[in-house]
Amino acid sequence: MVETEAVVLRTLKYGESDAILTLLTPGMGRVSAIAKGARKPTSKQGGRLQPGVRLQLSAVEGRGDLLTLRSTQVVDAGSGLWMEGYRLRAPGSVLEAAMRIIPEHEDAEAAYNLITRALALIARTDPRDTPPRLDPYVLGTQVKLLAISGLVPQLGSCAACGGPPPLAGFSAMAGGAVCPSCLVGSGAERLDPAAADALVALLARPLAEAPDAITAGSADGVERIAALMFREHLGVTLKSGTPL
Ligand SMILES: [Zn+2]
Repeated sequence: MVETEAVVLRTLKYGESDAILTLLTPGMGRVSAIAKGARKPTSKQGGRLQPGVRLQLSAVEGRGDLLTLRSTQVVDAGSGLWMEGYRLRAPGSVLEAAMRIIPEHEDAEAAYNLITRALALIARTDPRDTPPRLDPYVLGTQVKLLAISGLVPQLGSCAACGGPPPLAGFSAMAGGAVCPSCLVGSGAERLDPAAADALVALLARPLAEAPDAITAGSADGVERIAALMFREHLGVTLKSGTPL
């Protein structure tokens, strides 16, 4: 028997009346579970098993890696998250990042705390004028997932030769910013200094302070740096991110 807290990342229909859930747990990272009968109209569970909902659950291990849910209790229904467009799409970006970046069946306590914190912050935030995927809490979550994944880009000195600033380019392959001589002919792109500063500030401050760490003008650049690092080092392209 497995007893754990979990956040629902994704729900897929399965068979006549079952659902297959992707869950994020503190102790086992990402896991899949089948909720038998969850889509029957009489099911007490079904309505709770929506993306973004935080549960306390018990499950049994079945064949392979799939857990079978036995019981669920809602810890936080994420009310406030699904009211309208902005607060639907911003948490959607957080759940997608968790889904694609956090490994399966590995301890993920830091990532779990980060994702539940991000969802709670977004649930309380007012919709912004910027696109939801550039919400400070969404970008703060991505940057902190870089750190949890051991992928913090080197931004204080040249990631290729170790030389001092000024730094002119960004190379995910080199692992960070590069100096003007290393930039030439490297295929690296131009470094956005405001984005680099915002990324450092997002790493240094708690997620709750993300709106103070990032300016509207640097959000695109932060998303770009994070997207390049995830693609280069994990082979993950986030759908919500800037097309690469
Ligand atoms: Zn260099």
